[in-house]
Amino acid sequence: MTAIPFDNSYARLPERFYAAVDPTAVAAPRLIKLNETLASELGLDPDWLKGPDGLAMLAGNSIADGASPIATAYAGHQFGGFSPQLGDGRAILLGEVVDREGRRRDIQLKGSGPTPFSRRGDGRAAVGPVLREYIVSEAMAALGVPTTRALAAVLTGEVVRRETLLPGAIFTRVASSHIRIGTFQFFAARRDVEALRLLADHVITRHYPGVAGSEAPYLALLEAVIAAQADLIARWMLIGFIHGVMNTDNMSIAGETIDYGPCAFMDSYDPATVFSSIDEHGRYAYGNQPPIALWNLTRLAEALLPLLSDDQERAVTIAQDALNRFNDLFQSRLVAGFRHKLGLVSEAPDDVLLIKALLETMQRGQADFTLTFRRLGDDLLEGGRRCRELFANTGEFDGWLSRWHERLQQETLSAEERQRLMHGVNPLFIPRNHRIEAVIQAAVERDDLAPFEELLAVLANPYDDQPGREAYTLPPAAHERVLATFCGT
Ligand code: AMP
Ligand code: MG
Repeated sequence: MTAIPFDNSYARLPERFYAAVDPTAVAAPRLIKLNETLASELGLDPDWLKGPDGLAMLAGNSIADGASPIATAYAGHQFGGFSPQLGDGRAILLGEVVDREGRRRDIQLKGSGPTPFSRRGDGRAAVGPVLREYIVSEAMAALGVPTTRALAAVLTGEVVRRETLLPGAIFTRVASSHIRIGTFQFFAARRDVEALRLLADHVITRHYPGVAGSEAPYLALLEAVIAAQADLIARWMLIGFIHGVMNTDNMSIAGETIDYGPCAFMDSYDPATVFSSIDEHGRYAYGNQPPIALWNLTRLAEALLPLLSDDQERAVTIAQDALNRFNDLFQSRLVAGFRHKLGLVSEAPDDVLLIKALLETMQRGQADFTLTFRRLGDDLLEGGRRCRELFANTGEFDGWLSRWHERLQQETLSAEERQRLMHGVNPLFIPRNHRIEAVIQAAVERDDLAPFEELLAVLANPYDDQPGREAYTLPPAAHERVLATFCGT
C-alpha cells in the first residue's frame, strides 16, 4: 500500500540536477511533533505518519513507497562571495505530492545524513535549530507570510557535535519547491544553457503558469520572481522579521520564506538590528533586506541572461529594465502595508512622511515595533495611553499621535471598525527570540517539550487577544535579551 501518493517531477529532470541519495538511518527515533492540520492538507493520513511506518519515514529509517530521495544541486552567493557548488548537504528531498487544493508540494527531510554535497558537514541537525525552524515557519504561516512549512520534527536518539554535544533531530519541511536563485546560478556558472532552459520551464509550469503563454516567457518569469520577492520582503518588513542569511541559495524562486537559520523578530525598532552571530558586518540587518533582495535578484537576472536574448547587450538591457521595477513594487507594497497598520483606508500625499515620522520616533524612543502598532489600535477605543508607555521619548510620541489623529479625521470610519482592521494586520503574538531560546533550553537541558507546544499554540492565532497569555506579548526584560542567534550548522 502506498501511504503517500508521491509524484516526483524534479527527480524526472536530468541527473545533473541532483544526486540520488538515501537518508542515513538513526538510532532511536522519537516523534517530537506532527503537524496534523498540514498533513491533512497534503492528503496524508496523520495516524499513519504518527505510527511506526510514518515515524520510520520521518526519521529516514525507511524509504516510503513512491519516494525518490535526492539531494538537489545548487550554487550561491554567501555573504557576497560566490560558491559554484553548494547543494543539499544535510537535506534530502523525498518527493512531491499534489495537495488537496491541487498545489504541488515538496516533502524534504533536513538533518537526515550526509549527501555528496555535504563537504565537511555531518549532514545532521541539532534539536535547537529544528525547533526554531518549526516555530518560526509555522508562525509566519499564521501571520499570512508565504513560507515553507513544518510537517514534523523527530529526535534521532543520537547526538550531534557542534560547540557542544547536542541532541540530534530531523525536520520535515514542506515547500512549494526547493528551487532557489542559487539553483539557476549552478547551471549559469557551468554555462549549461540547456539545463537553465529546462529549469526555467520547470519553474514556469510549477510556479508561474500564467507567464507560459507570454511573448517572452523567460523575461516574464524574471518579472514574476521580482514581483514575488518585492511582496515577500515588504511582508517581512511589516512584521519586523529578519531572515538573517539572505544568501542567494536561501532565496526561494517561488517567493516563499525559506531556510530559517539565525532568523529573528525585531523587538525595539532599529533598522540596524542584526541577530545572526555570523553576520559581523550587518549585511543582512533588518533595514538592509530590501536592497539585498534586489542584489540577489540581480544575480538571478545574470544567470538568466542567455535565455533573455541571443544578443548579450540586449539581454543586459532587458534584465536591467526588469530589475529597475523592484524598488517601486517594493515601496508600493510597503507603504500600502503601513497604511493598513495605521488604520488608514484612504491615501493622502503625506502618508509616507507620517509613517517615517513614526518609525523615527520609535527608533529614538526604543519602542517595541510589534506592540506599538497593536497598542495604537487598542488605544483607539479605550481612550487609552498604553502605546505611549512603550516610548522613552513620550513628548515626541505625543506630537506624532496628534498628527495621526488629525489624519484619521479625514476618514469616516468608526473607532470600532478601525480597531478591527488594525488588529487584523498588527499581530499581538510574534515568535520573540527570548521565548524561542527558552523553548530550546527546556528541550535540550530537561527534555521538556511542553514550552514548545505552548509557544506553538500561542503563535497559531497571532492576531487574537488570548486572555491569560499576556506574558507572551512582551519584549524581553533586560536579562532575557538574546543578542545573537546561531544557525547551528
Ligand atoms: P545553510 O546555512 O543552512 O543555508 O547551509 C549552507 C550550505 O551548507 C548548504 O549547502 C547546506 O546544505 C550546507 N550545510 C549546512 N549545514 C550542514 C551540515 N551539518 N552538514 C552538511 N552540510 C551542511
Ligand atoms: Mg540554505
